Amino acid sequence: MFSGLGVLSHFDSIFFLVALGGVLPILTLYMARIYETAKSTLALRHRKRWLLAQLKIRPDCLRASLVERFSQCGKANCQCHHGGEKHGPFYYLTQCLAVGKINKFLLKTPAQQQAARSAIEHYRQLQEHLEELSQINAELLRREEPLRND
Ligand SMILES: [Zn+2]
Repeated sequence: MFSGLGVLSHFDSIFFLVALGGVLPILTLYMARIYETAKSTLALRHRKRWLLAQLKIRPDCLRASLVERFSQCGKANCQCHHGGEKHGPFYYLTQCLAVGKINKFLLKTPAQQQAARSAIEHYRQLQEHLEELSQINAELLRREEPLRND
C-alpha cells in the first residue's frame, strides 16, 4: 500500500487472524511492554503513587503514526521517473481503526507535522504509564494486596 516509506512511530496494535474451531475471529493484540514487578510491595506502591501523579490526559492526545513518504509525480519526463530523486518527504498521519480500515491524510504544514508528533508522543506516554499501573495492580492483586488504598 505504501511504498518507499519510513514509519516514524509504530502502530501500537497488531492485527491477525487465529483459526479457532473452524471460525476465524479477528483478534486485536496489544503488545505491552513488560514492567519490572518483582519488587517489594512497598516499592510497587511507591511506583504506583508516582504513576498516578504523572497520569494526565493531554488535550492533544493522539493514537496514530506519522509516516514519511517520497513519491513520483505525474510528469513522465520528470527525473523522479528516470532514476532521479523522488519528491518529498511528505508526511501522513495514519490511524488504524480496524482491520483494513485506516484513516490517513497528508499533513501539509510543518505546524501540523509538529502538532502530530507531540500529540502522538503524549498518547504513547499516557498509554505506557497506564500499562505500567495496570501491571503493578495485577501483581498487587496476586499478592492479595488491596488496590485502592493509595
Ligand atoms: Zn517528478
